[in-house]
Amino acid sequence: MEPNASFNTRDDQLRFLQSNPPRCIQGFKVALADFPGSGFDGHGEGLNPVFELRCNCGNSKCTVIGHDWRSEEKGGRSVFVGPIRLECKGCSSTTLAFDAEKHGYDVELGHGCYTISGIGDEARCGCSCCGSTEFHVFTRFEYSDDLFTDNFAEFADRLQDLFDWFTLVGRCASCNELWDLANFECA
Ligand SMILES: [Zn+2]
Ligand SMILES: [Zn+2]
Repeated sequence: MEPNASFNTRDDQLRFLQSNPPRCIQGFKVALADFPGSGFDGHGEGLNPVFELRCNCGNSKCTVIGHDWRSEEKGGRSVFVGPIRLECKGCSSTTLAFDAEKHGYDVELGHGCYTISGIGDEARCGCSCCGSTEFHVFTRFEYSDDLFTDNFAEFADRLQDLFDWFTLVGRCASCNELWDLANFECA
């Protein structure tokens, strides 16, 4: 698909991004989704497609696996960081959903990675309401509308990979509460 002329309006741009999910979630069955608050964006005006992720076995309940990073500067407060993997509650397979060192605007453009990732011990997200670790998971990507200009002509075949913000949202499978489980700035 050619950019620019084909994407005159914001609706055209959003439609392109909604029908071309980024490669970081290619291991899942994805479906377009929407929920209250999904219009939030980290940088100001932006294009914000939201996708629901399901395992390839068809199951939609999973455990969210990442790492806890403790910052001395933040008084020892724990922050949930990637790489983020989802473990299916149906077939037990584990699939990568986001890795700051492989995905997003800065990495795609060769600018390097400025987001902290974890290694070693795994951490699993729990619902702050009921403690369950089973979620229905959604990913929200933010894009700048600058992408649809000549400046990015050389990336025309993978504009969907140039997101500048990634949010992982989980709906608790037990009590139905919606949580922002992880946020990563990618530009
Ligand atoms: Zn599965
Ligand atoms: Zn819950």
